[in-house]
Amino acid sequence: MRANTVLLLCTAWLLAFANFRAWKLLAALDPGGLPHWLFLLCLGVLLAMTILVLLLPLSFKWAIKPWLVIVLLCAAGAAFFMDDFGAVVDRHTLRSVFETNAREAGEWLSWRMAWKIGATGVLPALLVLWTRIDWQPFPRELWSRAKLALIVVAASAVAIGVGGRGVASSLRNQRELGHVINPMAIASGLYAYVDNARPQAAIVVQPLGRDATRPAAPTGTKPQVLVFIAGESVRAASWGLSGYARQTTPQLARLPVTNFTDVRSCGTDTAVSLPCMFSNLGRKDFSERAALGRENALDVLAHAGVDVAWFDNNTGDKGIARRVHETELQNSTDPAWCSARNCFDGILVDALKKTLAATHDGSVHGDRVIVLHVKGSHGPAYYQRYPKEFEHFTPVCRSNELQTCTPEQIRNAYDNSVLYTDSIIASVIGTLQDDHAIDGAVLFVSDHGESLGENGLYLHGAPYAFAPDVQTRIPMTLWLSDGFRQRNGVAADCLARQAAQPWSHDNIFDFLLGMMHVRSSAYRPQLDPLRQCRA
Ligand SMILES: [Zn+2]
Repeated sequence: MRANTVLLLCTAWLLAFANFRAWKLLAALDPGGLPHWLFLLCLGVLLAMTILVLLLPLSFKWAIKPWLVIVLLCAAGAAFFMDDFGAVVDRHTLRSVFETNAREAGEWLSWRMAWKIGATGVLPALLVLWTRIDWQPFPRELWSRAKLALIVVAASAVAIGVGGRGVASSLRNQRELGHVINPMAIASGLYAYVDNARPQAAIVVQPLGRDATRPAAPTGTKPQVLVFIAGESVRAASWGLSGYARQTTPQLARLPVTNFTDVRSCGTDTAVSLPCMFSNLGRKDFSERAALGRENALDVLAHAGVDVAWFDNNTGDKGIARRVHETELQNSTDPAWCSARNCFDGILVDALKKTLAATHDGSVHGDRVIVLHVKGSHGPAYYQRYPKEFEHFTPVCRSNELQTCTPEQIRNAYDNSVLYTDSIIASVIGTLQDDHAIDGAVLFVSDHGESLGENGLYLHGAPYAFAPDVQTRIPMTLWLSDGFRQRNGVAADCLARQAAQPWSHDNIFDFLLGMMHVRSSAYRPQLDPLRQCRA
């Protein structure tokens, strides 16, 4: 075959098999007076143009086959996640792909994934490799590619001319489209990702709150221990304390906790939300790079003399705990908590008990903040997030191929994982309560919400601007021991009032500093939910 023929066939293949999501969005657009078929034809031509623009630059001898193979395989992979999970492709989702670990990645593997990517990616890639391309001398190849490019430009111009304003206005109103046009979305997402992730070594961490101090504890007071439980994928809509019709938080419901009912996440994925909630940037000014380039709440706490430790059973600390004690437990093989595939969050309660012993034997002095980064309701394999005895809601989806399960099965498995998180938080509270040598407090904040198939969306990671509420509304629950409450001087009725106010991850930085009585120029009392409640 001639190279142009191969290029056009690949374009047609990608149009037909890698762009279901884009076609679905396009088909729903308002044709603006044009016959629907003509409107779609115009859009199809423009879609084809975006594909050819990617393919043409590397369409010469030696380069064309590897390039087409890469594009076909990547497009098939992206199409699988877009079609089956309602995902979009942007720098955040690509970041999640690049920063995953073997265990997390392993949870995606399925026969459905294998055959879909095999049929739409591997098969055409093999056909490309098998095809003998009839190469002309280079000048003639260049000329024939130039002709193809001219045809593309001309066809696009005609499509825009015919489609006119209808096409333009429809496209402007469809921000999601840019994230699902395949494989262009991968290219633009990759560009944004690389642009954002320039070598981290080049980032100089700016100091923050180096003036932080704390008032001396009155003599005779016990050490304060604040346990901050962060993560994972727990949505307010499925949180019993926040009014979910099902009781998914039976243990917390029996404890004197304060549940904040109107809390928004900073992002829709861990890579954004987690660094964002510890930084003082706030959602509007947040970028991963900016957050890495400055110290965060944990650093300011450490400057003030608080002992800070981070225990992780998820995908790591995203650089937040770099300057404090960090313990990674997600690859542990402790048979009490871990299977070959993952560890239950109970391992974190165990780690907490062990580290509290350091307070008792005197190897850690004074007040502490201990972060537990939980695995929580991490999808798609919700059924692997909890021990068997927490399978309260049945039948459950026992597959990572969520589309093969009924909505009821998915909801059951997810709710069971929330039940387990409820018991983890309650165990942490119980551990602190039983420890009479310390004054404990527990703050639980989810990193983002989750879609369970509503409107064809699964998991999370939708661009914030059009993310559904279930992905951005999160639970936040606080427990204070009597001792902690007294030292903070927190009035109960004020706390209840504040819990009904709207808050977000933007408030966590000052929430943490305030609870630990940090005095610093970095502390912004107006953002601290408890500020008004202190005597
Ligand atoms: Zn997350």
